[in-house]
Formats: sequence, structure tokens, C-alpha cells
Amino acid sequence: MPDLFASAKKRLMAAAEMLDVDGDVLEMLSYPKETLSSSVTVRMDNGSLKSFKAWRCRYNDALGPTKGGIRFHPDACIEEVMTLAFWMTFKCAVAGLPFGGGKGAVAVDTKKLSNRELERVSRQFMQNYATFVGPDRDIPAPDMYTNGIVMAWMVDEYSKMTDTPTPGVITGKPVPLGGSKGREDATGRGGFYVLCTLAERLGIEPAKTRVALQGFGNAASHCAQLLHEAGYRIVAVSDSSGALYDADGMDPAEVLAHKKDTGSVAGAPTKGKSREIGGEELVTCDCDLLVPAALEDQITCDNAADVQAKVILELANGPTSFDADDLLLERGVWVVPDILANAGGVTVSYFEWLQNRGGDYWDADTVRDRLRRKMETEAENVWAMAEEYETGLRAGAYMHGLKRLEAAISAHGTRAYFNGGS
Ligand code: GLU
Repeated sequence: MPDLFASAKKRLMAAAEMLDVDGDVLEMLSYPKETLSSSVTVRMDNGSLKSFKAWRCRYNDALGPTKGGIRFHPDACIEEVMTLAFWMTFKCAVAGLPFGGGKGAVAVDTKKLSNRELERVSRQFMQNYATFVGPDRDIPAPDMYTNGIVMAWMVDEYSKMTDTPTPGVITGKPVPLGGSKGREDATGRGGFYVLCTLAERLGIEPAKTRVALQGFGNAASHCAQLLHEAGYRIVAVSDSSGALYDADGMDPAEVLAHKKDTGSVAGAPTKGKSREIGGEELVTCDCDLLVPAALEDQITCDNAADVQAKVILELANGPTSFDADDLLLERGVWVVPDILANAGGVTVSYFEWLQNRGGDYWDADTVRDRLRRKMETEAENVWAMAEEYETGLRAGAYMHGLKRLEAAISAHGTRAYFNGGS
């Protein structure tokens, strides 16, 4: 993915130009602060030793300790990790959290590991990065193909290595180990709250809105459930093994139960006459709201002109390429960008970190209420910024985040200050 990072930075450049930010700020935000590559070498069940490439990047810590998930994916690479850490920098800034951006990955296919091998990979990752992370330095969390139990192994490893129980070094932990209530569904729920806040202005009315979701993992399945309960009609879902379309709609709970039983959404029960469609077709299928919740670069110049949805809610990180943005903007398609739409996960991670440090644990209603208020506030801020500059929500979100980053970076003095200005 050699172009991913360069392409991501174009959004920073575009926002910087609109805001006319100081060159020092741009210099600071153009390069990762540090990235540590390593090999995660573990004993496999068959007795052999195997090494997997791994990385952790702390992109920028102007706003606080770096924060972001760890991804286990066979295609992971340093370029992707840096890009994801860059996005986390902006996501935390947009969400108004006291965190910078980070990310980690291991290039491994978890479907080919036994549970014991998965545990060894997770513990070894933490052994490699124990001096890189820390509750005041860099705080990992789950991402694609990592989950609560992986976080539990990692926090346990860290606590053993430092001989100090340290729940605040990792978020997304199981609740009995200091995890937060409401972290599991936070990403999907946060996206739902953002959509509710902006729905009227985006021309969305639940009963008249047909939804297509690309991906049916944690974020998409929870968001689908909330949309369904609010009266939206779920007409299409997909996962890595296939896609399903039904104009009459489907119940996400039934789709999820089917996926849990069979490992795939294909063949899930629907209301009407469903048909299997190609995964790629999902992006351009007949719907009003498209929710990309899988991998990067799914909406590109090649298919953006054929997108039928009038609103895109980006639950995945980076699902729309830089070039596709202009095309969608010209066509009047609203894109609710990833750095706002999927910020619910890291927001509840922040709540978890606060609870770990305060030793005071909140009930689920408190978590949801605080998440809702946060997402509403920042959705309003992003909208206001887009309106002021007469642009789309992506540029609005980048400008909103950049203003916060600029204020923190400039507080140390900029070139104007050092050259004798103010
Ligand atoms: N991996 C999630 C994301 O991309 C969550 C990060 C976190 O909770 O730190 O936003």
C-alpha cells in the first residue's frame, strides 16, 4: 500500500491550505514521531518457530499520550500502520480527547492460528513493545481481528513485565479486567449518534432510508441493530465471504445469528426475496445510506460515480480514497468521514482509561449518555466548520481537528515567534 500514506496526507494539506496554518504545524504533522518495527517470533503448536512482522507507530503526541488499536491482518504493512496512526491523530483531535494518534499491527492471519498460537502472538507483541507503550505514553486497543481477550493477554503480559497491575495501558479489555461497560458497541453506536444528529440536514428520514452495510463485524452489526430499531430498512449486508441484497429488508439480529452459526452472512434469513450480490456490487447497490465498515480504499475513482446512496457513513478507517472525495462532493453525496463517524470506539476507550485511572467504574447508561453528548457536540462542530467554509464534512472534520492540533503545537512557539514575531 505505498500510496496510502501519501494519499492520507493530501487531506491534511487541503485542510491546512483552507485554514492557512503555520508551516511548522504542517511540518510536525507530516511525519510520524516514531515507528518501531519488530518480529513477533513464537513457537507454533507443531513445534516450529515462526516470525511475524509487527509494528507500532506513535504518530503525534501534541494532544496527549498516543492512542490507537492493534490490527492482526495478513496484509498489514508499515505504510498502513503509519496511515492508521495518522488518522487516529485526527480522530482523537476531532473527538476532543486528550490523546495523540498511534496504531499497531502484526502481519498474521488469525484464521490460521489456534487459540494457543494467538495467545503467544499477543503476549509476544507486548513483550516486544512493553517499553514503547505505557498508560501515559501509548495506549493500544482492539482493531481488526483483535478483541477483548487479545487485550486481556496483552495487559496481563505488561503487568507481569512491570510487576505492577496496570489496566490503563490497554483499552477494550473485558469488563471483569477493568474494561468499560459500553465499549463493545461503542463504534457502531457512536456512528449512529452522529447520523441522528445530522440526519435532518443530510435529508435522511429513517422510515424512508434503505441502508447497505459493507462488512458485518463489530462496528457494522451494532450500528445495523440500532438503525433497524430506529426504523431504517437494512437492504444489504456483506462480509469477506459474500453479500446479500433484499429490497424488503432484513433483521440484523437474525443476520448476526446466522453469521455466528455459519461464519458468513450469505444465506441469512430476510423478509422478501433476497439475492446474493458480489461484494463489490454492494458499494453501488440501490440504497440511500451506504455504511462502509470493512477495509480501506473501497470507494475510489473507479466506482464513486456509480454510488447510488446520498449519504455515506464511514465506520471503517479510510474507506474512501482522496480522489473519490471530490467526485462525491460534486455529485452532492454527503460523506460523514471516518474521523468523526467511527470516533465512538476511541471515545469510550478514553472513558475506560479514565475509569482505570480513577478506580471509579461507570454504569452502562452513564457511558452511553456521555458518548451521545460527545458525538452530538463534535458532529455539530464539524457541521459548523463545513458550513463556514462551504465545503464537505470531510474537509470540515479535518479543519476542526487541525485547529485543535495547531493550537497545541503552536503553544510551544512557531517560526513567527522564534523569528521575533508574536
Ligand atoms: N481501533 C479503533 C479505531 O480505529 C479504536 C482505537 C482505540 O480505542 O484506541 O478507532
